[in-house]
Amino acid sequence: MMPQITTIPARSGKATQIQKGQLIKLINTHGEQVIDTWAFNALDVTEFMSMEHSRVHLLKLRPEVGDTFITNQRRPILTLLEDTSPGIHDTMLAACDETRYKLLGCSEYHQNCTDNLSAGMAELGFKKQETPSPLNLFMNIPWTEKGSLTLGRPTSKPGDYIALRAEMDAVVAFSACPQDLLPINGPAQQPTEAHFQILSFP
Ligand SMILES: [Zn+2]
Repeated sequence: MMPQITTIPARSGKATQIQKGQLIKLINTHGEQVIDTWAFNALDVTEFMSMEHSRVHLLKLRPEVGDTFITNQRRPILTLLEDTSPGIHDTMLAACDETRYKLLGCSEYHQNCTDNLSAGMAELGFKKQETPSPLNLFMNIPWTEKGSLTLGRPTSKPGDYIALRAEMDAVVAFSACPQDLLPINGPAQQPTEAHFQILSFP
């Protein structure tokens, strides 16, 4: 039986529960969409995948295949098992929120990853306590030797995917970043949908 495929609508968020040992495959359907990604302990959402703890655990700014992300309690939560993209992802930048768009000149409400996370978790009956710093999959933030950052164009192609294995029972949440004021989702500045599948092995 083909595993069910779930759509993350453009500019929106979607969360799902995944059991320890299961894989979640995230597909960059149209190629240049940044996907903010979070994982929480399904039994206690105050424990979550932490980029700052994972960076010291891995001693890397950018994860590679085989690397395991850890929580704010320094326990394994997700392992990056497969990546068909060139492997350019960001672990440094905060999720966008309404204030970010106000500061960029938006006078009306703008959809944002922070609210998408809340909505995705609420759909499953979970109440988010805070917005952890996300794993920004496919987001290209090159750095210089001096430590300056730029907002780069994603290097992924349509259909590129990432497979993550759950190391504990977890709630995994994705947001197809609604950023359309800056070219972080490609020069067209047109956020697109993405998809995910949960794969189980007997
Ligand atoms: Zn965003």
